Amino acid sequence: MEQFEDWQIEDMVLNTVNGLAVSRLNKFYPTYVSKATSLPLDITFKYLSEMAKKGRIRLSWELRCEECYRTLKTVEDVIPFLNDEIICKYCGEESTFNRENIFPVFYISEAYKKQQQKNVQVKKKVGLRRAITL
Ligand SMILES: [Zn+2]
Repeated sequence: MEQFEDWQIEDMVLNTVNGLAVSRLNKFYPTYVSKATSLPLDITFKYLSEMAKKGRIRLSWELRCEECYRTLKTVEDVIPFLNDEIICKYCGEESTFNRENIFPVFYISEAYKKQQQKNVQVKKKVGLRRAITL
C-alpha cells in the first residue's frame, strides 16, 4: 500500500461516504469503500468505525445464512446473538451464528444525508454565481 498520512486516509474514506450520502442508498458495505479507495479492508473498516462514532453512519451486523448467504437478521450488537440457531426462511437450512457468517454494514444517518445534499446544492449555487460575476 502507498504511504498516506492519517488525514489523507480520513479524507479518502469521507469523500467516498459523502458520495454515498448524496445517492439514494441508505446503507453500504465496507468492501465498497475499500474498492473505491483502494485501501485495505481492515484500514477502511477502522476509519469507517471512527466515522460511526461521530454519528454520520451507524454500524450494524448482518447475520447471513451459512447455506445461501442471504441476510436473515440485522442487529446492532452481535454478542447476544452469537451461537444462536436460526432456520433460514429462504432455503430451510439451520445456521448457527458465529464470526464466520456475520458481516458489518453501515447505515447512513438521515441528517447527514440531508446535510450532504444541501452542501451539493450550495456548491452548485456558488458555482453559478461565479459563472455570472467573473
Ligand atoms: Zn438459506
